[in-house]
Amino acid sequence: MHYISTRGDAPVLRFEAAMLTGLARDGGLYLPETIPTMSHDDIAALQGLSYEEVAFRIMRPYLGDAFTDDEFRGIISRAYEGFGHAARAPLVQLDQGHFLLELFHGPTLAFKDFAMQLIGQLFEFSLKRSGQRVCIVGATSGDTGSAAIEAFRGLDAVDVFILYPHGRVSEVQRRQMTTPSESNVHALAMDGHFDDCQARVKDMFNDFQFRDAVGLAGVNSINWARVLAQVVYYFTSAVALGAPHRKVSFTVPTGNFGDIFAGYIAKRMGLPIDRLVVATNQNDILHRCISTSEYKPDGVIPSISPSMDIQVSSNFERALYYAYDQEASAVSQLMDELKAGGFSVSQGASQALRESFDSDRCSETETLATIAKLSETTGELLCPHSAVGVHVAEAHRDPSVPMITLATAHPAKFPAAVEEASGLHPPLPDRMSDLYERSERVTRVENDLSAIETLIKERTAT
Ligand SMILES: *Cc1c(COP(=O)(O)O)cnc(C)c1O
Repeated sequence: MHYISTRGDAPVLRFEAAMLTGLARDGGLYLPETIPTMSHDDIAALQGLSYEEVAFRIMRPYLGDAFTDDEFRGIISRAYEGFGHAARAPLVQLDQGHFLLELFHGPTLAFKDFAMQLIGQLFEFSLKRSGQRVCIVGATSGDTGSAAIEAFRGLDAVDVFILYPHGRVSEVQRRQMTTPSESNVHALAMDGHFDDCQARVKDMFNDFQFRDAVGLAGVNSINWARVLAQVVYYFTSAVALGAPHRKVSFTVPTGNFGDIFAGYIAKRMGLPIDRLVVATNQNDILHRCISTSEYKPDGVIPSISPSMDIQVSSNFERALYYAYDQEASAVSQLMDELKAGGFSVSQGASQALRESFDSDRCSETETLATIAKLSETTGELLCPHSAVGVHVAEAHRDPSVPMITLATAHPAKFPAAVEEASGLHPPLPDRMSDLYERSERVTRVENDLSAIETLIKERTAT
C-alpha cells in the first residue's frame, strides 16, 4: 500500500513512514493510493465481533507489511484497554430511528482518544524497532492535545509539545494537558486562537532544517493513521444497526473534518452509508463552503463548543482532492489561493462535494436548547459539540434510514455550558475525579515561530 500527497509533489511513502511524517513535504496530506474495499459478505461477517477485531479487519489492508498480524493485534489491544466501556463505542437510542454513538469513554473523554491511543502504540512499536527518536508537535483547540499527551506520556523515544490557545480551552481540557508530570510532556499556552497555533505548527513542518534537526513528527488530525483509526466505529455502529443489509446515515460535529472524512472513507470502502451530515457551530465555514462553494475564512468567534472553533479545516483538503477527481494540481492551486484569502470550488467539484456531504450549522442558543431538551426527554446529558450534532441531525433525518449522531466528548469536559443549559452538573467519571486537585505545569509562549523553535530545541537537546 502506497501513500500519496494531496498536492502531488511529495515522496510516495509506505504506511509507517506516512504515519511518522504526518504532513507531507509539499504541504499536502497523505492518502492511500487506492482505497481497499469490503464486500457485502466481509461487512456482514463483522456482526458480533469485538471492537478490537473489527478494528483489525478494517485497518489491516492499509498497513502493507508494516506489522505482522500478531503485532498489529497486540497494538490494537493495548490501545483500547484503558477505555472505560467494554463496547468501546456504545450506541444509545435517543428517539425513533435516532442513535447516539458515545465516543467519549477513552482516557481523556473525547473521541480523539480512539485515534491517539492507537497512534501512541503504533509509534512506540515502530520507534523501538528502529531505535529512532521523535519530537511530536501538535496544535489543539483542547481535545487533541490532551489525547496526544495521554497517549505519549512517559514513552522513551518521544517528546510531546502541545500548543494550545491561552485562555481558550476549558478547565478540564487545560488540566488534562498541564497535570501529567512526565518530563517528556510539554504543554505550551500560546497567545492567539487555535488557527494561530495550527499555523505555527505548519510553519515548523515547513522549516525543513528545524524539522530534521529535532525529528519532528505530527499527530494532528492530518495524520493518516488517525483518520484510519476513526473509520472503525462507523463500521461497528452501522453493523449494529443492520448494515450491510440496510443503510444508515451519520451526523458528525465537525471542525477539522477528520472525523467526518473517516466516514467518507468508510463509505468508499463499501459501508452502505446514505447521508454524511457535516454539523458546524457558528463558525460555519464548512457549511458555507458546501452550500455556496465559497471558502473564505473570516475570523473565529469563540463558542461553547470550542473544539469546533476553526476557520481553516485541515482535512477538508482531502475531501477536495476526491471532489476534484484526485487532481493534485487543482488542490495545490486552491491551497495557494487560500493563503491569499480564500477560494471558490469549481462547479463540478462542488457538485461532487454535495453528493457526498450534507451540511448545516447550529447557533449557540440552539446548542443550549438541545442540551436542555435531550436532558428532559431522554435523561442523556450532551456535551455542546454533541448537541450541535443532534440539532443538525434532527433537521436532516429521513424517517426510513436510521441516523447515528456522533457524541464526540463527555459532558463533564464542558461542565459550564452543560450546567447553564440543563441545570445539572455533569460529574467526571471516578477514574479522573481528582483532576481539579492535581498540580499544573505549563509554559506561556508568544505567537512567534522562532521563539517556539528555540524552546523546543533547548528542551530536546540531549
Ligand atoms: C476535535 C473535536 C471535534 C471536531 O472533530 P474534527 O475531526 O476536527 O472535525 C468535535 N467535537 C469534539 C469534542 C472534538 O474534540
